[in-house]
Amino acid sequence: MDGATIDQAMMRHALVLAKRGLGRTWPNPTVGAVIWQIEGVQPIIVGRGFTQPGGRPHAETQAIAVAGEAARGASIAVTLEPCAHHGKTPPCAEAIVAAGIVRVVSALEDPDPRVKGGGHAILRNADLDVSIGVLAEEARAVNLGFLSKILDHRPLVTLKLAQTADGFAGVMGQQLMVSSSVSKQRVHLARAAHDAIMVGVGTVLADNPDLTCRLPGMMPFSPVRVVLDTHLATPIGCRLVETCDTVPTWIVTGPDTPNEKIDAFRKTGVIIERAALGKDGRIDIRDALKVLASRGLTRILSEGGPMLAEALARADVIDSAEIYTSPERLNREGIAALRPGLQAALGDASRFEVSHKVTSGRDTVVHYSRRG
Ligand SMILES: [Zn+2]
Repeated sequence: MDGATIDQAMMRHALVLAKRGLGRTWPNPTVGAVIWQIEGVQPIIVGRGFTQPGGRPHAETQAIAVAGEAARGASIAVTLEPCAHHGKTPPCAEAIVAAGIVRVVSALEDPDPRVKGGGHAILRNADLDVSIGVLAEEARAVNLGFLSKILDHRPLVTLKLAQTADGFAGVMGQQLMVSSSVSKQRVHLARAAHDAIMVGVGTVLADNPDLTCRLPGMMPFSPVRVVLDTHLATPIGCRLVETCDTVPTWIVTGPDTPNEKIDAFRKTGVIIERAALGKDGRIDIRDALKVLASRGLTRILSEGGPMLAEALARADVIDSAEIYTSPERLNREGIAALRPGLQAALGDASRFEVSHKVTSGRDTVVHYSRRG
């Protein structure tokens, strides 16, 4: 293997490690790091690490701890620029220098104003060999939520929507749940890879859902549950409120909700945020997402109904969509799953592409990805 091929192989490995942290490291990005030595012409991996739950320790210090003395004279691949700012621990860029690493292969500059080239500069000033941009596109895809939080002041949004074969999301007051058990597992797995699940208050009123990750061993990875609720109509006895001490529940409400009402929820442990209203008198989606990003969320899975999906489409904040279609027909008048704005967005080839289609039990799932 030549040097460039080794760099890419090590970066690919680091990216796989980074993905393990998705949904678990907010407000920090999830990063992977691999340290290797060259013996003859072969790379020998001596350390690897990824950002730990809650965002600390960082990937680089994990990998350096594993490598120990073997880090001396070694190379490191990192999926994002090593940090340069002093927090609870010294910056990773300094830790890399101190470990005696001589070469750094970095995928991306960290746009966080506290880093922004500062990490790479520390490494170069210490005479390390630094290559930037290896598998940058892949690294960007893994860190899209973090990059979006910093650059666009909103989290990444994945839309999940289920419909019958004839295009209905359910009937009034009752939302269709994905039908097959395989699809339920897919949804629960997707929950674990996001920082938060978001629904509108309509879903809470209709279904009183748990919105947790109920897969064996994965309950601790249940994300924050966010309800958009203009007038704070969420029942205080609903499951999301009752269980907020084990899985956090946040409600985003409008500016007119009385403080006394908010205080009653806060006493239960629910976190309440306010956001501005749009022209339609409902929570302004962009403002709500900005508020959620400011609280650290980087990746949101929207599991609300057609109204919320439509609002997200009209605000142009959907990054990817997973549309589940069951083989059954409703065969009567129901609530259309894809309203006009969402239909137009997903059908516009300049904005979205179908990245893949899969069979999930009896359902078909079509994945759409935003272009560019
Ligand atoms: Zn760091």
